[in-house]
Amino acid sequence: MSIASRINVFGMSLAKMEMLMAELGEKPFRAKQLFQWIYQKEIYDFARMSSFNKPLRDKLQAGCEIILPEVVKEQRDPDDGTRKFLVKLHDGNLIEMVLIPVHGRLALCMSSQVGCTIGCKFCATGLLGFKRNLTTGEMLGQLVLARRLAGEIGVANIVLMGMGEPLLNLQNVIHMIEIASSELGISISARKFTISTVGLVKQLRELTKYKLKSGLALSLHAPIQQLRERLVPSAKDNPLDQLIPACRDYIAQAGDRVTLEYIMIAGITDTMECAKALADLTRKLPCKVNLIAYNPIIDDQGTPLAPIRKAKVSVDRHSREGGNPEGGKGGKLKPFTPHDFKPPTIEAIDRFREYLYPRCPAVTFRKAKGLKIAAACGQLVARVTGAPER
Ligand code: SAH
Ligand code: SF4
Repeated sequence: MSIASRINVFGMSLAKMEMLMAELGEKPFRAKQLFQWIYQKEIYDFARMSSFNKPLRDKLQAGCEIILPEVVKEQRDPDDGTRKFLVKLHDGNLIEMVLIPVHGRLALCMSSQVGCTIGCKFCATGLLGFKRNLTTGEMLGQLVLARRLAGEIGVANIVLMGMGEPLLNLQNVIHMIEIASSELGISISARKFTISTVGLVKQLRELTKYKLKSGLALSLHAPIQQLRERLVPSAKDNPLDQLIPACRDYIAQAGDRVTLEYIMIAGITDTMECAKALADLTRKLPCKVNLIAYNPIIDDQGTPLAPIRKAKVSVDRHSREGGNPEGGKGGKLKPFTPHDFKPPTIEAIDRFREYLYPRCPAVTFRKAKGLKIAAACGQLVARVTGAPER
């Protein structure tokens, strides 16, 4: 193998390492050792892998390499201690990950794609468009980097709530969790991971087959199909009447409850009509509701965190069939743009919560963290915004 075609072994599963060792004319137990050196002992220099003889070390050196992503910038929110990291990938692409203090511990918010194909109207990552999926190694690399950056406190939980839609990078996400949770690897329980998804029925059903015990968060945002379609472009092909049973089946095997992520947007999703529909929906599956106030993706000067892509006009089924007060001329619904979105008032949040509380099994309100450095949910665009660098 020449230097030019060196294989990056960081992110390889045990099965792939066994194949590599077979190619190198070595026994399968060598793969287990390599796996442990890299993921358990974090040794990234083949010359230091002392259980290997010199010929094997030389073969690995000649044909393989161990490459992790690199942190190129850090910002810290002075108000709540949230740290956002700009991470450079091997090909120069940039992503972001965030370390969030939660009750004296740290949660890592990890990215799964460079950009995102889905394009939810309220999300800055969605405005960016999509470049590519992250590899298993690039996701695992975020975890390794975050553990180092976290120091003694350590990383207690990992949420796939950074840039991208994890279910559109399903195989790599599964491999990443399998390697991280392996006793020969990092040994973090799969339960410490939460996969957050916009809700893709086919992929969710596929994920369920793997019997992962990781948590599931569904980015619901609107409990009414028609409204959800206006906010989340993938909702049309993934209707709630199919999505909810798919979530129920995943969570049944994981032995947990689904977290329903619900962004409250003033006048759009914070209405009492939505509160009632949400309360009804929570009766259909074991769940908890996490309310999130919309985090602005347009700054005080009116500039979006990423350029706004031109949206297609969505035609609403009901208005096509004969009129809808919202529909306007010709039954066309005006597509939302980020300029239509405002955070809810305190009164609207209280009213919504009070309605939900006795009717839903569990309701929490997620306080936005990292707002000063554009590190809060939906604000990640992989460029340095806001202020203070360290
Ligand atoms: N694609 C996945 C995971 C990344 S998005 C998903 O959609 O679940 C992570 C979370 O940020 C999701 O719950 C998403 O809905 C939320 N989010 C996106 N834009 C937001 C905004 N402007 N304000 C608050 N939360 C937002
Ligand atoms: Fe993509 Fe999630 Fe943002 Fe929607 S909310 S655009 S799925 S990252």
